[in-house]
Amino acid sequence: MWSNFHTHNAYCDGKGVIQDYIRKAEELEMLSLGISSHAPLPFANKWCMKPADLNAYLNELRDLKKKSPVDLYTSLEIDFIPGVISPNDFRDKLDYTVGSIHFVEQLPDGTRWEIDGTHAFFLEGYEKIFNNNIRDTLTRYYELTREMVATACPTVVGHLDKIKIQNVDGKLFSESDAWYQQEVKKTIDAIAASGAIIEVNTRGLYQKKSATTYPGPWILEYILQKAIPVTLSSDAHHPDDLVNQFSDTAMLLQKIGFKTLTILHEGHWQPFPYNEHGIIVR
Ligand SMILES: [Zn+2]
Ligand SMILES: [Zn+2]
Repeated sequence: MWSNFHTHNAYCDGKGVIQDYIRKAEELEMLSLGISSHAPLPFANKWCMKPADLNAYLNELRDLKKKSPVDLYTSLEIDFIPGVISPNDFRDKLDYTVGSIHFVEQLPDGTRWEIDGTHAFFLEGYEKIFNNNIRDTLTRYYELTREMVATACPTVVGHLDKIKIQNVDGKLFSESDAWYQQEVKKTIDAIAASGAIIEVNTRGLYQKKSATTYPGPWILEYILQKAIPVTLSSDAHHPDDLVNQFSDTAMLLQKIGFKTLTILHEGHWQPFPYNEHGIIVR
């Protein structure tokens, strides 16, 4: 019995309608399910919801919640771009928010630079915005996460270190570099102070874009030291990915020492014990 609070669907770039995810969650006997399409952005973008669809999305979820066989919650994965969009813009409409950094600064022509698009696009911004300085690039990325939790704290911080997918074969930096570890730890400290939950996101594993979860194991060890609650998510863009890599990741979390996963159930975020088969409800 699992739960998942980071899922997409056809309102944004996910495959299948919301009901397909509910049906799959029922089949998997999931305890809770959160629907979190990409929140509409105020500029052209291929993967987020269209601004005009937001009301239909919220209404559809309101109706589905009345008849859903699984404990269902309404959310959005919301970008944080200072002065442009933040979790504060949507939280009143939602059961919880997922806050994620996808954009860091703009190219000289004004194009918003995505950190999880193609590697070629990453390299373009890396050169044009940051003069190929990896430390400045990663510092700005983590600074934005800190600014988000300080000024527009989401319920859940999404895929904390996803920018590492661009570090193909470790060519750009090493995660054991002292400056990188300090930057990440400073960010975890800020999250600890904010009270946000950190998701352990398995998407990089099953997409084969990362050998480790977002965030990776050494960061999870520090998160445990700081006693920050964690939840397990797959960032599913297809119903078949609702619990993808959950069993292995639960075993990893147990090995690191996490005793509970924090789950939204019956209207409250609560810690639940778990094992490799799922959450344990007593
Ligand atoms: Zn995301
Ligand atoms: Zn996502």
